[in-house]
Amino acid sequence: MGPLRERFWELPLAELDRAEWEALCDGCGRCCLHKIEDEDTGAIEHTNVACKLLDCTTAQCRDYRNRKAFVPDCLRLTLKIVNEVPWLPPTCAYRLRADGKPLKPWHYLVSGDRESVVAAGISVAGRVVSETVAGPLEHHIVEWDR
Ligand code: SF4
Repeated sequence: MGPLRERFWELPLAELDRAEWEALCDGCGRCCLHKIEDEDTGAIEHTNVACKLLDCTTAQCRDYRNRKAFVPDCLRLTLKIVNEVPWLPPTCAYRLRADGKPLKPWHYLVSGDRESVVAAGISVAGRVVSETVAGPLEHHIVEWDR
């Protein structure tokens, strides 16, 4: 794999190579939280309960490479499905770029600082509990502000 191209995040998603695609993630951790879907209406409620593999203090996956072995239904976001995942947060870098919008100023690729996502209040680091200790999801419904 070659080096990431300069300002690759401004290219259409379809032009990104695998490493660039992976590097686009802002690391917010919001896609690693459980959601509750209403069977009848399809409405989605968000929770503050994290996948067992998420490090709740950093919002990073503790075994990203092998995550499918431990969490078979972990979503692998691809170009094909990025527009079909209704619960991606509006701030998600993939969603923004799929819509032709620029990354937010706090995205590390723009700010040059991996911690900007935390300072901007977007990261779930320190704001979630692991599914291993949370108990019923219904007790953890939250509205993420943005
Ligand atoms: S919601 Fe989007 S930007 Fe945030 S961690 Fe998930 S894939 Fe990355």
